[in-house]
Amino acid sequence: MKKVIICECTQYNPQLLEKKLNAGMALLGGWDKFVAPGMKVLLKVNLIGPKSPETAAITHPELVRALTRLLKARGCQVWIGDSSGGAIAGIAPTARSFKVSGLEQLAREEGAVLKNFDREGVTEVTTEAGGKMYLAKPMFEADFVINLPKIKTHSAAIYTGAVKNLFGCVPGLRKAEYHRLAPDPRDLGQVLADIHQAVNVSLHIMDGVTAMEGEGPTAGTVYPAGKLLMSTDPLALDTVAVAMLGLNVEDIAILQTARARNLGTSELQEIVIAGDYTAPPRLRGFKLPKRLRRVKPKNYKIVIRVIDLLKARPRINLKACKGCNMCVESCPVQAIDRETKKIDYSACIECMCCHELCEYKAVELRRDNRILDFFGRLRGTWS
Ligand code: SF4
Ligand code: SF4
Repeated sequence: MKKVIICECTQYNPQLLEKKLNAGMALLGGWDKFVAPGMKVLLKVNLIGPKSPETAAITHPELVRALTRLLKARGCQVWIGDSSGGAIAGIAPTARSFKVSGLEQLAREEGAVLKNFDREGVTEVTTEAGGKMYLAKPMFEADFVINLPKIKTHSAAIYTGAVKNLFGCVPGLRKAEYHRLAPDPRDLGQVLADIHQAVNVSLHIMDGVTAMEGEGPTAGTVYPAGKLLMSTDPLALDTVAVAMLGLNVEDIAILQTARARNLGTSELQEIVIAGDYTAPPRLRGFKLPKRLRRVKPKNYKIVIRVIDLLKARPRINLKACKGCNMCVESCPVQAIDRETKKIDYSACIECMCCHELCEYKAVELRRDNRILDFFGRLRGTWS
């Protein structure tokens, strides 16, 4: 039976985090089972964009600090790596994300090495369907990789966690290409399954001290979840995490694909929960993405149909827009006009990258409503 450890942890205090991490790791067999002196250990963080830790959009640097200290004390060399989403002037913002997040300074202070996946070269791997895929080289050069996802909602995929976090192994602008080729979350799930099978990451530590609720993965709000989750199985970890949100694997297309591709255990009754809990603790009042908020999870499938009919779409709020063009340059199908910020819905594949990557929360999800639309345009609010 696969194990998921859940530890209560309400503060990003490195000493407290070290204690919790050691307690959790002891229940997974101890650090010695995973790492040894001299090993290069890569911490694959969630660095979705240039966001501060307080936004809950990224893996918190203090968790990374605590892990770095524990690993260095064991004689390991520590690497911190990811590739952010989006592009401005054709350049992915990963370098800026390292700075804004505080990870650059942390690496200096703790003697860790930053690995900007956009600049480290790629390794070619073969997908299950026989295609080629290019993933960041450090994922293969490290002796051991620890996946460090964050518990977050996702406007397109509903939830993002351990399985989805490895999408950052795709360097730079190639991510947009995968979104174009795999607009449906089930198809993106195939891409993610290919990544997991290629890189074989066997330790996953989820940052749920603070989580993101509402319009994640970047435009949501902070939810103080107070939990750290650990497992050797990414799908088991996500199965428990979504149960904490009142959802299940059937509700999340990416996880359904992960189940079909045998990425791990997805039946709650086949997962041993240990640590401070023996069953997934519910995160009371946690807000799902707007399009699902007023919905009881059991009615989710019916509601998705209704939502499809109502066509919740990205709209650019011109009053909030700063004109940075991140959305324009990140749109995989070039559906956003550079000047007017008008979206061509006949081209839009509803990947929600624009919503995900706008630093100013100016891309909102709205349903078609011709009357509101008319007044919004009169006021100069909508593109
Ligand atoms: S909507 Fe956001 S990402 Fe797009 S140009 Fe405006 S501020 Fe930049
Ligand atoms: S307009 Fe936004 S949601 Fe539509 S394809 Fe472009 S990035 Fe994706």
